[in-house]
Amino acid sequence: MTNKDKPINKLDECVLCPQCLSRIYRNPEERKKSKIPTITSSQKCSICGNILLHEDKLFNLVNNKINLLNIEFNTFLVACQISNKTITQNENKIRKMTGYHGNNDLKHQIKRDLNEMITKKLGKTLDYKNPEVVIMVKIRKKPYKHNPYYELRNINIFIDSNPLFIEGKYRKLVRGIPQTKWPCTVCKGKGCEACNYTGKQYKDTVEDLIAKDLLKLTRGSSTKFHGSGREDIDVLMLGEGRPFVIEVKHPFKRNIDLKFLRRIVNSHSDGKIEINDLKFVNKDRRAAIKNSSVESYKIYSAIATFKNGVTSKDIEEIEKLDVIEQRTPVRVEHRRADLIRTRKINSISAERINSKQLRLIINCQGGLYIKELISGDNGRTQPNISKITNNEAICSQLDVLKVHIP
Ligand SMILES: [Zn+2]
Ligand SMILES: [Zn+2]
Repeated sequence: MTNKDKPINKLDECVLCPQCLSRIYRNPEERKKSKIPTITSSQKCSICGNILLHEDKLFNLVNNKINLLNIEFNTFLVACQISNKTITQNENKIRKMTGYHGNNDLKHQIKRDLNEMITKKLGKTLDYKNPEVVIMVKIRKKPYKHNPYYELRNINIFIDSNPLFIEGKYRKLVRGIPQTKWPCTVCKGKGCEACNYTGKQYKDTVEDLIAKDLLKLTRGSSTKFHGSGREDIDVLMLGEGRPFVIEVKHPFKRNIDLKFLRRIVNSHSDGKIEINDLKFVNKDRRAAIKNSSVESYKIYSAIATFKNGVTSKDIEEIEKLDVIEQRTPVRVEHRRADLIRTRKINSISAERINSKQLRLIINCQGGLYIKELISGDNGRTQPNISKITNNEAICSQLDVLKVHIP
């Protein structure tokens, strides 16, 4: 009896199953003339070890795994990994000896056959570019435990679920919440007395407030948050909200009800945040919402508090502000490259609150730091409101009214 784990050296040492035989000899005439015999019922194919005679069972293994994981998907792709070297070596030798130079090997055949069966029997859609799940067939030398089929005991199925992307807009209605995870500055996230062993510097983040319910609904493992910029912790995000894409890693459930998600996130966050306009998107949106193009702009409402009284002439000067050269602010220098950025103010209007305070409505290109536009940041921002009014000013409150992306 020919064993599949027996390495072969000559053509007359091997026997092949009909499937492997017609893969090696695509031309039926050549197949007839070939010296390689077809296996009898007691023999094992020198390449596949008779796996290809049990493809219906292979499909059952896949189907069992899908049901066991209770994983939901529409699009898929089958991958195959063969770590049993005898299989690949035997196939390579036979290909060499028979002069077959195509790239259709056992791996290809298993992938192609399973792709077809899953499409037909389960009504799923094959997607080479962006599959929701990748169904991996692993073939190794050592048998797997708990495999229901003796003939396929060296095979196991693994299903990897690609991330799910949801786009929306968030409003942040209270101050003191960062957009994403902020590890405790004392312990760097390990957990210590200062952070009450949470590892977090802030109890809530915009991401967490959304992720808690989202992970429950999708049964995903974690999230990654991509915002169209971010506001400081002490800044509110008002108006329609800031666009974001939240990525769920390894989701088991994809067809979730986004209206329901929106409702429970909004009710569970106790008025801290609000999310709207949720929709499913593909991974390209991650980068798209981060890219600030010429058409993107932001509108801020800021309260500037001055050391001395503000004159009407000062207001006139402020409203003339146009192009700003801004060196990376001191307060973000540790995490941003130190460079000078040029940002345009599309419009700025100032309204008097009292003799030393103005409310400014600023429509500008994304990436302009408003706090520094007011203070001047020791001359790193030019021109700046403190300088043009010759009156030291700070930004004592800031809200974002609009984040517009095309
Ligand atoms: Zn075979
Ligand atoms: Zn800590």
